[in-house]
Amino acid sequence: MTEQKRDDSLERVAAEVRGCPLCKLARTRKNAVPGEGQLAAKIMFIGEAPGSSEDEKGRPFVGAAGRILDNTLKKVGIERSQVFITNIVKCRPPNNRVPEADEVAACKPYLDRQIALIKPKVICILGKTAYSSLLGGSSITASRGKMVERAGQKYFLTFHPAAAIYNKSLLSALEADLKKLAIEINKEKDSKVSLEDYS
Ligand code: URA
Ligand code: SF4
Repeated sequence: MTEQKRDDSLERVAAEVRGCPLCKLARTRKNAVPGEGQLAAKIMFIGEAPGSSEDEKGRPFVGAAGRILDNTLKKVGIERSQVFITNIVKCRPPNNRVPEADEVAACKPYLDRQIALIKPKVICILGKTAYSSLLGGSSITASRGKMVERAGQKYFLTFHPAAAIYNKSLLSALEADLKKLAIEINKEKDSKVSLEDYS
């Protein structure tokens, strides 16, 4: 885990991301999407990459997948003020292809800085790209709904909301997973007992 530099801030990371030239996605993006949410967020949601709506607006999860995420958060009682939402890469890959290894590597320091600043209780991994880049995992289906701990950081694993757009069973699975996450987070709030490790 990267240590927080003394004068770093979320605003500073966002400003650097918006002008970032560090990988080839800089040439095709309209707007970079640093992420948004509170410094005091308890949960960080990490998706794959901005899609076209996000690229237009410069904000994360504001298209179809974002509506699913918002609705699910609301249903399980997680408030927007409790979360920070971002992606593995901050610029849209052409035709929404999966981000390539060099792009993920170039962009990783921004995410590391956001994590070091926010110090989330839990990082919620949304889908395979985030799972493989953060934890080296492959099948989210086999591990969804689980909390794992790596180097003192808790990670919760679930589907990418985009996978649930046309699949009602994935939608209820996503909901069940986030409900579990909500219970864990609220448990934390009421007691000093640390999160249970499901792994
Ligand atoms: N899909 C993602 O992975 N991230 C977004 O911000 C939007 C859609
Ligand atoms: Fe920079 Fe990340 Fe955008 Fe690449 S994806 S240009 S590394 S902000």
